[in-house]
Amino acid sequence: MTAVAFIGLGNMGGPMAANLARAGHEVIGFDVVDRQIEGVSIAETAAQAAERAEVVITSLPNGALVAQVVDELLAADSSPRLLIDVSTIAVAEARELAQRVAVAGSSFLDAPVSGGIAGASAGTLAFMVGGEAEDFERAKPLLGAMGSSITHCGPAGTGQAVKACNNMILAVHQIVLSEALVLGERLGLDPQAFFDVVSNATGNSWALSVNAPVPGLVEGSPANRDFEPGFASTLMLKDLGLAMEAAQQTGTETVLGRIAATQYAQFVEGGNGGKDFSAIINKVRDA
Ligand code: NAD
Repeated sequence: MTAVAFIGLGNMGGPMAANLARAGHEVIGFDVVDRQIEGVSIAETAAQAAERAEVVITSLPNGALVAQVVDELLAADSSPRLLIDVSTIAVAEARELAQRVAVAGSSFLDAPVSGGIAGASAGTLAFMVGGEAEDFERAKPLLGAMGSSITHCGPAGTGQAVKACNNMILAVHQIVLSEALVLGERLGLDPQAFFDVVSNATGNSWALSVNAPVPGLVEGSPANRDFEPGFASTLMLKDLGLAMEAAQQTGTETVLGRIAATQYAQFVEGGNGGKDFSAIINKVRDA
């Protein structure tokens, strides 16, 4: 059993903390909003939650908040700890935090997740982890209580790097699939025939085989429930912003990624941020 402080008990952090507690770990949680999570005792501040904890996990909306919490913890107590950030933040922010934490004598892993709220609840998240190998080995049993796929990607920042790359691919796939489906419809093609051929052909993708944006093609896809997420368009836009920031910092020309970022920015500005990102097909239809 490990004593774990869990900071940020929202849509993802709440069920993740509950799964850790269910696996027999002592979990002390903190959130700025009042939250009750089964099996988790709630502290009054992040520092108080971390007092007795060997490991601190953060699941927060952005890198600035993660840095704020990490600074608060380092200032309150200098005993060495393992800090695992499961939020999605910029690669540069993760690297900077890893350095700052190391200087203070503790360890830091960036461990963003894929699998959404459903994966967090079911304990089937995919973790992509950046940091030192020995810290990864220490974190593995804890991450295993919250996920079913845990990959060490390399040194600090590489977890966030692969997350940004994956979601840039996914956004481009979802847009081009929507364009192809609408083009097919306008050419008189039944979406079911499109699905039957393309899902078994070279144009297949997760965007089609799991997240098809037309109702009736794939059981459980957000299109069947008026695009209730799933993975909200605001979150996709956030991840594309992080990918574009990384592209700029590395001098990488990502033409399609940039177009996808612009498309999702317009879609979210149009009031669709709460819809699943596969609802982008409506933007293609309306164009
Ligand atoms: P959320 O907004 O539901 O939860 C974030 C929680 O952090 C909230 O409860 C908020 O009150 C709390 N918080 C904010 N500032 C705090 C502070 N200073 N101290 C303590 N708590 C604080 O967001 P979420 O959907 O749970 O996402 C968390 C992270 O996971 C984000 O970085 C997101 O990009 C990433 N993520 C989300 C999904 C998803 O499908 N929701 C999927 C993959 C990754």
